[in-house]
Amino acid sequence: MSQEINEAMAAITRQLEEQLKFYGEIGVTDIGGSLSAAKPALEASPAVQPPVAVADLPPPEINATTQEPMPKKRDVPGQAALFGDLMPTEEAAPAARALPVIQSQDPSLEAIREDIGECTRCKLHEHRTHIVYGEGDPQARIVFIGEGPGADEDATGRPFVGRAGQLLDKIIAAIGLKREACYIANVVKCRPPGNRTPERDEVATCEQFLFRQLAFIKPQVIVALGSPAFQCLLRTKETITRSRGEWRDWNGVKVMPTFHPAYLLRSPDKKREAWEDMKKVRDYLNGLDE
Ligand code: URA
Repeated sequence: MSQEINEAMAAITRQLEEQLKFYGEIGVTDIGGSLSAAKPALEASPAVQPPVAVADLPPPEINATTQEPMPKKRDVPGQAALFGDLMPTEEAAPAARALPVIQSQDPSLEAIREDIGECTRCKLHEHRTHIVYGEGDPQARIVFIGEGPGADEDATGRPFVGRAGQLLDKIIAAIGLKREACYIANVVKCRPPGNRTPERDEVATCEQFLFRQLAFIKPQVIVALGSPAFQCLLRTKETITRSRGEWRDWNGVKVMPTFHPAYLLRSPDKKREAWEDMKKVRDYLNGLDE
C-alpha cells in the first residue's frame, strides 16, 4: 500500500515538474504566486459550460501538502445538447454576474461579439487596448485556438498578428490552407498583463464566448495551441508536452493539441514534432475530401 502511495506521489511530482518546466519554457514567469493560477478552468464556474464527456474528467486535485484529494468545488454541469443552445448556468462567476451574458437569439459570430460588448467582466479589461475577438471564415473547417492576445494583438484587435502569428501563418500555409479560410481565436479575449498565463477566473469568465464561437462555426478540426487552450477545451490538467499529437474530441469535433507557436519560436527543435501533428490535421482534412 505504501508503495502505491509513493508511486502516486512520485507521479504527481513528475507532473508538477513537467508543468512548471513547460511554463518556464514558454517564458511564463508569473503564474500568480502559486500553482493555482496556472490551473485550467475546470473547477471554476463559467457562465456557460461546454458539453463535457464524463470520461474526460481529470482525477480529483491532490492537495500538495496533505496529499489528500481536494474537495470538488463544483460538479460538472449537465449540458443540453451538442451544439445546442449554450445557456448560462445559475452558478455564474461573481464577476460575470455583475455583467450578465445576454443570450442572444441570434447565434451568429456578430451576435456573440455584441454580447461581449465593451466587456468588464474580468480584471483583464483594465489594461487592454482592444478586445481580440477572433477572425476568419465563419464556415471554417479548422479553428486555431491560442491562449490570449499579446501586445501586437492588443494593439490591433486581431489574433495572432505578432511573431507567433507569423509562424502560425507559415504553419497554416504548410498544410495547404490560407489564413482567411481558417478561424483564429483565443481562450481569453483581452491581453493578460506581461503575457502571463490567463488565470482561472479569467478563463472561466471568457471561455463561454469561445465555446459559442465554436458552436456556431462547427469546424471539422480544432487545433489547440498550447496547454491553456488544450486544458480549457478538454477539461484536463494534462500538459501539451504529454498530449500533443493525439487526436481528442470536443463535442464530436476532432481536436489536435500541439505546441503554441510562441513556444516553437523559443524551442525551434520542437517544430519537427509540431509538424508531425499538423500533418495529421492535413491528412484528416484531405481524407474528408476524398
Ligand atoms: N498568442 C496567443 O495565444 N494568441 C494570440 O492571439 C497571439 C499570441
